[in-house]
Amino acid sequence: MSDIVDELWLIGCHENGEARCTCGVGMDAADEITRLRAENAALERRIDEEAARKLNAEAELAKALERVAALTRERDALREALERIEQWGRAYPLSVFPEPDFAKAREALEAAGLTLDAVSASNMRYIVEGVSEIARAALKGAPNE
Ligand SMILES: [Zn+2]
Repeated sequence: MSDIVDELWLIGCHENGEARCTCGVGMDAADEITRLRAENAALERRIDEEAARKLNAEAELAKALERVAALTRERDALREALERIEQWGRAYPLSVFPEPDFAKAREALEAAGLTLDAVSASNMRYIVEGVSEIARAALKGAPNE
């Protein structure tokens, strides 16, 4: 900081012709150089701060993008499970499996010593357990095959 500013004091005065500048030009130049150097130092500190903030923001962005990717994978897995359940819901169309005559079914089953409720409960248990299994596997994040 002393180099050029000190030199200014050693240059003879162009105005007054003295060994050192007494007219104020040298002093003004020295003041301006000192001011510009301080301003430059402040700007360099700000550049460093902004660069650090940029690095931090980039790291935050990378973390956010990773999180988005993880959530997207999770969403896709859950959607896949829902699609399997939805497909299963269309597996027994009325056009292929028309509704039975339940009164006849009840009579026939009762004649054989069975109840329609027991058969219905068994079918429902199979369906509900199957749906539960798809949901359980999806919630664990395991691919459900
Ligand atoms: Zn001078």
